[in-house]
Amino acid sequence: MLLSGRVSGFMNSAGMSSFLRGSAGARMSKVASFKLPQASFRRPGRLAPFSNVRMVATSSVDVKSSAIFQKYDIVKEDHIDEYGAKVVLFKHKKTGAEVMSVSVPDENKVFGITFRTPPNDSTGVPHILEHSVLCGSRRYPVKEPFVELLKGSMNTFLNAFTYPDRTCYPVASQNLKDFYNLINVYLDAVLHPALTPWTLKQEGWHYEIEDESDALKYKGVVFNEMKGVYSSPDAVHGRACQQALFPDNTYGVDSGGDPTVIPKLTWENFEGFHKKFYHPSNSRIYFYGDDDVAARLELLETFLGEFEQHPRVRKDSTIEWQQKRNAPWTIEQHYPSGQDGKVLMTVNWLINDQVLKPQDELALDVLDDLLMGTPVSPLYKTLRESGLGESVISDGLETVLQQATYSVGMKGIDDVAKCDQVQKLILDTLNKIANEGFDKSSIEASLNSLEFKLREFNTGGFPRGLSFMLGSLSSWLYDRDPMEPLRFEKPLAELRSRIASGEPVFEDLIKKYLINNGHRVTVKSLPDPELEEKNRKREEEELENVRKSLQKEDISKLIEETKMLKEKQQAEDPPEKLALIPSLTMDDLDKQGRNIPIAVSEEKGVKVLRHELPTNGIVYADIGLDMRVVPVDLLPLIPLFCRCLTEMGTHKRDDIALSDFIRTHTGGVYTSTSTTQKYGSGNRLPEPEVVSNLFLRGKATYAKSAEMFEVMNDIITNTNFNNQNKFKQMVLETKARLEANIVGSGHSYAAGRIGARYMVTEFVEEKMRGIETLDFIRELAKEVDKNWEGVLAKLERIRDLLVNRKNLLINLSAEDKGFSSLQSNLEEYIQSIPLKTEESKVVDWAMEMKKFDGKGEGFVVPTQVNYVGKGAQIFKPGEVTSGAAAVVSRHLRTTWLWDKVRVVGGAYGAMNSYNPSSGMFKYVSYRDPNLLQTLETYDQTPEFLRELSKEMSPTTLANAIIGMIGDMDAPMSPDQKGFTSMDRYLTGLTDEMRQERRDQVLSTTAKDFAEFAERLEVVTKEGSIAVIGSSSALEEANKELGLELKKIL
Ligand SMILES: [Zn+2]
Repeated sequence: MLLSGRVSGFMNSAGMSSFLRGSAGARMSKVASFKLPQASFRRPGRLAPFSNVRMVATSSVDVKSSAIFQKYDIVKEDHIDEYGAKVVLFKHKKTGAEVMSVSVPDENKVFGITFRTPPNDSTGVPHILEHSVLCGSRRYPVKEPFVELLKGSMNTFLNAFTYPDRTCYPVASQNLKDFYNLINVYLDAVLHPALTPWTLKQEGWHYEIEDESDALKYKGVVFNEMKGVYSSPDAVHGRACQQALFPDNTYGVDSGGDPTVIPKLTWENFEGFHKKFYHPSNSRIYFYGDDDVAARLELLETFLGEFEQHPRVRKDSTIEWQQKRNAPWTIEQHYPSGQDGKVLMTVNWLINDQVLKPQDELALDVLDDLLMGTPVSPLYKTLRESGLGESVISDGLETVLQQATYSVGMKGIDDVAKCDQVQKLILDTLNKIANEGFDKSSIEASLNSLEFKLREFNTGGFPRGLSFMLGSLSSWLYDRDPMEPLRFEKPLAELRSRIASGEPVFEDLIKKYLINNGHRVTVKSLPDPELEEKNRKREEEELENVRKSLQKEDISKLIEETKMLKEKQQAEDPPEKLALIPSLTMDDLDKQGRNIPIAVSEEKGVKVLRHELPTNGIVYADIGLDMRVVPVDLLPLIPLFCRCLTEMGTHKRDDIALSDFIRTHTGGVYTSTSTTQKYGSGNRLPEPEVVSNLFLRGKATYAKSAEMFEVMNDIITNTNFNNQNKFKQMVLETKARLEANIVGSGHSYAAGRIGARYMVTEFVEEKMRGIETLDFIRELAKEVDKNWEGVLAKLERIRDLLVNRKNLLINLSAEDKGFSSLQSNLEEYIQSIPLKTEESKVVDWAMEMKKFDGKGEGFVVPTQVNYVGKGAQIFKPGEVTSGAAAVVSRHLRTTWLWDKVRVVGGAYGAMNSYNPSSGMFKYVSYRDPNLLQTLETYDQTPEFLRELSKEMSPTTLANAIIGMIGDMDAPMSPDQKGFTSMDRYLTGLTDEMRQERRDQVLSTTAKDFAEFAERLEVVTKEGSIAVIGSSSALEEANKELGLELKKIL
């Protein structure tokens, strides 16, 4: 999985890889607060409120009475008041396996098993093993039990992660039976995988050759995944920083695998790594949720019981400490770039070479936030305003590994000589802060904002229990107390009192850990437009040399192996083996969908939606402004307009005062936009009717709702856009971010480009955040210099158009008592929004949709892998659709596309999407070595579905339905529920319609698969193509495709 942090934290730059990207793998962002990793919000998550929690499940009494407890020692028993969690730490007597058992009233149960797996080379052996153990095991001897679980379980999380020093296997589910099924499969996978040389070939690397006249090629899932990673300048830079900081220990190699080193991995080392580290004695096992503790231990015993204590593994897996050096040094390296690539540079520190005190660790987190947590934090602001680069690299503090690090720098530097200036500016700024200290109001803002985050603990769609586990492991993995990272009340109170007593806490930390710390390395990454080609040539030559060294019979053997591997990959698992994978039945599913409360009213002429939800004393307020009044030519400015709202400052408060006020009194104020279209009645696809809003979203405790509404009004009506320098910087940052994202997440840009040809909603998105936006932003950067008055006038024009009480919509989520306490503030708020007399005019965006010609487009970027997309509108307005279509569409992702594009094709992933409100269907591949072959696979999809529908087993059908229901019932946090309910209301998706669709899902038959196949013929025959890829791949493929090619980087 690609992990994207605030900019590029260690997790995406140098650290973690995982088995799967996509809905099941929620993206994780940088550790936002203390040690609890906060997730970003791809999938909804249900939270247990942390006040009024009752103890559930175990107590000491149970512990003594049940026989299973005889198998375990109790190491520690405690209550974490902050989260109302009862925690027992067990040690399995026979093997020494450590078990952390958390009991909380949260139905989204989590299990995880983690091994310490420090590598000593960059062959990627931990990462390849992470993939491989999920490819069949003793009890479940099928090709990919993991995929079977993806197809037909109700999991709310299913993935695996490789860190630089550990491998984690977490699962989550709200359904107890499903939860145990997942645990069974995962434990069998890690402890008894069916590893063969074929597994290494498929998941790691192999030579591919199909005919004697062909050249040799490297193929393999991880090989390709890492080629994609090494195409990203941010990742190449981050990796170099980590390796430079840790020259002497395991963090100096790449656990994910360096594509130039991966082919050195032998079967002996691969199998040996599993033997060495995947043992219960080297495991940390975790349970979380509302299920029974004795049952957890019973289940574990069925796996652990057959193992003995391993004599050496705990010692063998110990992570050595990197000793600190005394004098700073510099490293220079190159990355593959386009023609106008620029320099990236960061200054990096190794913070500690012994265990940090908990209070120091919390203080360092606050310090990081003070220095770089917001765009107006002094270090961030100074760098940003220096004009030395296009954007700030603010990775900051990382505390996930054994030793903490600190990184700051810039990217988009046009001359490498400026790196010294950046470095000097960083060091001077730190010195200045160490001498002068921070503003009291900024410290207060930082502490309050941290405290709000910790108390709210809103992990969005990411299971809360998994955040707990990852937080614990940052201490537990290194044989320290796993509960310590979860507590914050006491350290926070201590920190507050130290600050109150006048102790220069942060100044001291800056001096000790940064200014006077000699273990500091400056890393510069220089662009090399030839490097991609050089890398390709180097690989080609390497393969040619291998080929030359082979005898004719060796080649024949490789051809034979290539054929056999493909056959194995395409062979069907026998039904009797598939039946071994435990799964739910249709009877286990809730027939009735879950609804979210909504009350609609009109107050002072404005529509107000209220969702009464257990928000634990917090009000979530979404202020919507109808965006349909914005003309098409102003749309590309909308994302920048949004940033101005929260970053520029107002006529009442400058940018720093605004940021401090928001962070002192609220849990945050954000902006977002949403553009969708209405559903039709009677299952009929309607003529497109756009729903589009710009939202200002805030959250605060009830007591602070007045402050929240006041500042939200100030932002909307009063923002001071007139800061040319700052705006220019935002434009350059946007440009840098877009360029990085197009290379790193090209699949979503390809999908957007296809959609823009058909749907007005996607055309609008493409205008604001698509490939086309890049040209606009490049022009805008010049225009800001030449004609700032003109740009300023456009920003003010957008505000004039949007800010009108007639355009306003208010969406609130809170408890009943919250609504009554904030009513007067709400009324005041509504009256503070100007009411304009003239009617606001809705622009007909569809009239201005760009007309695209031809079959599609290819976008050339510097990369070693491609993103291949194809799609079309498969239902037209007036046609009848069914919920069953979504079941078929979802099933494709884990069967046909997975097998052909990922397993056989060697791409990291392939996805497809079907939008029931617009009838759009798209395929996209992710980090794909192929292009034409992938398109062929897409085109053959109808054939696959037709065959499948002819001989579909009841289990296959049931699993497809179960998986779909699992997606539909994904847990959500209260704010997500409120927002989702509003979205349904605005798009006309009623609870009755949702229930009807659910009924259709539940009664899906094989016939629906055959019917969907006919629909997909439209994509095969007349679908549009969009590819983001390397020039060599695109030029070669275009001999056949005839796409319009454009070089964008
Ligand atoms: Zn992976």
